[in-house]
Amino acid sequence: MKIKSAHFVMSNSDVTKCPSEPIPEYAFIGRSNVGKSSLINMLLDRKNLAKTSGRPGKTQLINHFKINENWFLVDLPGYGYARVSKKDKNTFQKYITNYFQQRKQLLCSFVLVDIRHEPQKIDMEFMQWMGENQIPFCIIFTKADKLKPNVITKNVETYLQILVDDIWEEAPQHFVTSSSKSLGRENLLEFIQNINQSFFKENAV
Ligand code: GDP
Repeated sequence: MKIKSAHFVMSNSDVTKCPSEPIPEYAFIGRSNVGKSSLINMLLDRKNLAKTSGRPGKTQLINHFKINENWFLVDLPGYGYARVSKKDKNTFQKYITNYFQQRKQLLCSFVLVDIRHEPQKIDMEFMQWMGENQIPFCIIFTKADKLKPNVITKNVETYLQILVDDIWEEAPQHFVTSSSKSLGRENLLEFIQNINQSFFKENAV
């Protein structure tokens, strides 16, 4: 898919106030500093559309971007950020869970994890919650440029095996990416495009 246009639409913390257009939507979420803003900018081929974090935990809202005038990309807050006060943390967790449970346009979500790290408790808990609530998602491994190819393969295999052992019979679909090297861009955009095409076919008037 070619990115012809990408623009910011709105930020808010109430799922009922999100844009009402019934077009496909894809959400991106992960721990603070996982490389989410960099990945979104890389995907959209824009330098600074999603703000890269000076201070993690900054994007504590549901941020809608409209792409090619026919789908939404949603940038969600980084979870698990220690400096967010307990009160704020509860607030964003609730509005995030509301978003996932209520947002009808949401066709697939992407949970970002740093390819260098072993599965973290908060990511596992989040993915488990997504599974229990039957919310489809893929895993995006970020920062692959930081590892040698054989270590990438080993880490991905280990990560997915832990998911299979602990949570599911089958591991979710995954993508290996690097924002600094634009790795994984084509695959991700093609994946989104395929879902969009099925959506528009099914919903053709
Ligand atoms: P966010 O908090 O999840 O939005 O993370 P950012 O996109 O702001 O990235 C956090 C840090 O990781 C920044 O210092 C980025 O430069 C760095 N980073 C993000 N993606 C990559 C990547 O693909 N490769 C490398 N080497 N560094 C990255």
